Amino acid sequence: MSEKLAVSGGTPAIPEGAVKSWPPIDDLDREVVLASLNGDNHAFGPNCTAFQNEFADWNGNRFTLTTNSGTAALHLCVAACGCGAGDEVLVPAYSWSSSATCILHHNCIPVFVDIDFDTMNLDVERIEAAITPKTKAIMAVHLHGLPVDMEKVMAVADRHGLKVIEDACQAHGATFKGKKVGKWGHCAAFSFNQNKCLCSGEGGMFVTDSEEMLERAQSLWSFGETRTPSQDRDYHAYAVGWMYRNNDLTAAFGRSQLKKLDGYLAQQRANAKRLTDCLRDLPHLLLPSEPEGCEHNWYNYTIRFDMAALGHGGDASDFRDKIVAAMNAEGVQTGVWQKFILPVMTVFQAKNGYGQGCPWTCPLSQPVDYSPEQFPVAQKHSDTHTGMTVPLRAPNGPEVAELTAAAIRKVMENLDQLEG
Ligand SMILES: *Cc1c(COP(=O)(O)O)cnc(C)c1O
Repeated sequence: MSEKLAVSGGTPAIPEGAVKSWPPIDDLDREVVLASLNGDNHAFGPNCTAFQNEFADWNGNRFTLTTNSGTAALHLCVAACGCGAGDEVLVPAYSWSSSATCILHHNCIPVFVDIDFDTMNLDVERIEAAITPKTKAIMAVHLHGLPVDMEKVMAVADRHGLKVIEDACQAHGATFKGKKVGKWGHCAAFSFNQNKCLCSGEGGMFVTDSEEMLERAQSLWSFGETRTPSQDRDYHAYAVGWMYRNNDLTAAFGRSQLKKLDGYLAQQRANAKRLTDCLRDLPHLLLPSEPEGCEHNWYNYTIRFDMAALGHGGDASDFRDKIVAAMNAEGVQTGVWQKFILPVMTVFQAKNGYGQGCPWTCPLSQPVDYSPEQFPVAQKHSDTHTGMTVPLRAPNGPEVAELTAAAIRKVMENLDQLEG
């Protein structure tokens, strides 16, 4: 059906105000945040300790340490795994930048592995080829909330004596073979940034079942002191530490949102299912999949455009950008999540993290190759995708998924209006 696209002056398919923002805030949030404010401990306070305990219960981990960001928790994972100067950590070529920069933070070298096109996750079949005598750990990123095949990752790690870090910053509540993410590897990191499925503004959680890993993380988390603020401190820096502690107001907010998380995730799954049902018959769209054994949390619903089927032989990302702009004009909150694969980012191409080429010039490191041609799948994904978060989040229901699908359909059926 021919309809004038909003990008060329037509009426937007999604009325203004139809999509509600994330996260929903109710009286419980107001009550607990205000109670923290009215208390007298605003730094690492009682809400932080309670948040750690409640998150440990929710995810089923023995130990948790709450941080001021997911990136801080990821860095603590690198440290907890015993990675040090010159050690290599394998990381997917397509992720958030800090999945890889947290490795540099500990004087270690990121080594990229291409992704699998269908799952958009680390290609588990390519891990082994990237292992060298310097490899110490594998960072498995559960991208968009879809779990990596952790049985395969753990099998490779066991064969080579490697540690496994789970970057679960996007994957709260996702399961692989019925077991939650953050329970598979040696340690894991969650983020509570506003965009994540559990929002406390900013914040993060380091989780592990190993007491030794907890102690290593703790020893760097608060100025390199070995005692936590709730213990009797001696104000002595035993190691190069950071200030990665969470604070009471943020943790209070996180606690109240955690009480609602299972409900949010159920809504998100129902919305994603509705969107998929509505889009399934549209040609030229590659919809996200949920392989056998994986339960997605639908943090980000990512679509790829089939450029070959669209008959588009030119620059894929240019054409994708045009389609996305047309969808945005219809009121679809979608966008390109990562325009750049990790290895092409300047921080890696320049190989100059700390000046004078460090840590790549450290005598303990070995040369590493970041030429982008090694990661064709990540590049193809990056050039052809568009992602979506808020339209599928609570309090939006399946009716918003339907509206979103109708707007996407309108654009895809009138692509001729975008030519030229
Ligand atoms: C958000 C995110 C991070 C970082 O979390 P912050 O809390 O923003 O520091 C790391 N990895 C992935 C995959 C993320 O999506």
